Amino acid sequence: MKNLDVVIAGGGLIGASIALELASAGMNVGVCDTQEPGREASWASAGMISPAPENAGMIPFMPMSLASVALYPEFIRNVEELTGRDAGYRQDGALDALLTGDVQEELSTIIALQHGVGLRAEALSAVQAREMEPSLTEEVKAAIYRPDEASLDTRAFTDAVLEAARRKGVEIDAGNGAKALWREGTHCKGLFLEKGRVEAKWTIVAAGCFSARIEGVAPYAPVFPAKGQMIGLRCEAVKIQRVLWSDHTYLVPRSDGRIIAGSTIERTGFEHDVTAGGMRKILSEALELVPGLEKARIEETWAGLRPDSPDHLPIIGPTDIEGLLMATGHFRSGILLAPITARLIRDWVVSQEVSVDWERFSPMRFIEAQNSQKA
Ligand SMILES: Cc1cc2nc3c(=O)[nH]c(=O)nc-3n(C[C@H](O)[C@H](O)[C@H](O)COP(=O)(O)OP(=O)(O)OC[C@H]3O[C@@H](n4cnc5c(N)ncnc54)[C@H](O)[C@@H]3O)c2cc1C
Repeated sequence: MKNLDVVIAGGGLIGASIALELASAGMNVGVCDTQEPGREASWASAGMISPAPENAGMIPFMPMSLASVALYPEFIRNVEELTGRDAGYRQDGALDALLTGDVQEELSTIIALQHGVGLRAEALSAVQAREMEPSLTEEVKAAIYRPDEASLDTRAFTDAVLEAARRKGVEIDAGNGAKALWREGTHCKGLFLEKGRVEAKWTIVAAGCFSARIEGVAPYAPVFPAKGQMIGLRCEAVKIQRVLWSDHTYLVPRSDGRIIAGSTIERTGFEHDVTAGGMRKILSEALELVPGLEKARIEETWAGLRPDSPDHLPIIGPTDIEGLLMATGHFRSGILLAPITARLIRDWVVSQEVSVDWERFSPMRFIEAQNSQKA
């Protein structure tokens, strides 16, 4: 890879989506990856496109989430048309089951919060919830239905986005990761790779939870891994149409009949171990939500590493080094935020203007925090 307009470190869904957007804008783009791209968090993901904030910490990125949800149908259509592949996209909505506690009060609080941030959400009685999803536990007390939520098969989709990017001329250098930023003074000239170096006008770091291991990146993107374990189930007797949530778990139906159950959040470094404790937690919560899964076959177990950040918010945008941008730290929402991340990076690279306010996600927040600690 030589003399590119843009070089991207990392070919997960974020790097691949950015590559596709920039190549579609006519740029000469290269992606480097330490391994076959698309085999880390994006491969492990449940694939929910769910903007509903699970906690107050997620409210700051609601405008980005809603903008991303709006971009998704067109993004999927474009990738499917370019590649002829099916992304496993399902727009069936999600049902959030309340199993314990004072559900009437909880229901009105959650619905008010979700309406307040611009989401469509309906309160359902236990009877209505079980009419919609008959496999739900009889213990369900009430539920919230969010009709606009979707999911996709992230393994198929990430591969399709990579293929679409290739078809748009993106060069992908698998097995040749970035070792360090290639800096000259206040300018980034590209990347030093495991083999050789690559020069580009713009350098974008999108290496997920591994980004801070690239020399020179950590001050802008102090990301770290948050492991999530998952189980792939199959059960002929259980049919689930929509994504199902309870307080502690989720079940995501795939078009091939599998049901994906997750997950855990563990700070155990860069290891991908599937553990007995993780499996017990996921299975017991999944069975509490859908008891019929007791007879399910366990087809696969795996673990992936989410790119977490100190404030759990994404890290997207330019730095004080000319030509250097970050696109990482998407934590639990990288699938949801892939289209808007790619769009904002493209807008910035092409015109230095963005359509959604991204100030809050600037990599410079970490530099400013370090500077104010020193002062
Ligand atoms: C169990 C689990 C469930 C999840 N569920 C959801 C969900 O339902 N919805 C949602 O929105 N999000 C979900 N997420 C989060 C989402 O998967 C991530 O936020 C997203 O995949 C991050 O994408 P990425 O491209 O930044 O990172 P990754 O997919 O991890 O890709 C990073 C890439 O960088 C490469 N790389 C590493 N080091 C280097 C280097 N030095 N140079 C070049 N390349 C390098 C890696 O090999 C990899 O290909 C989930 C995550 C997990 C683990």
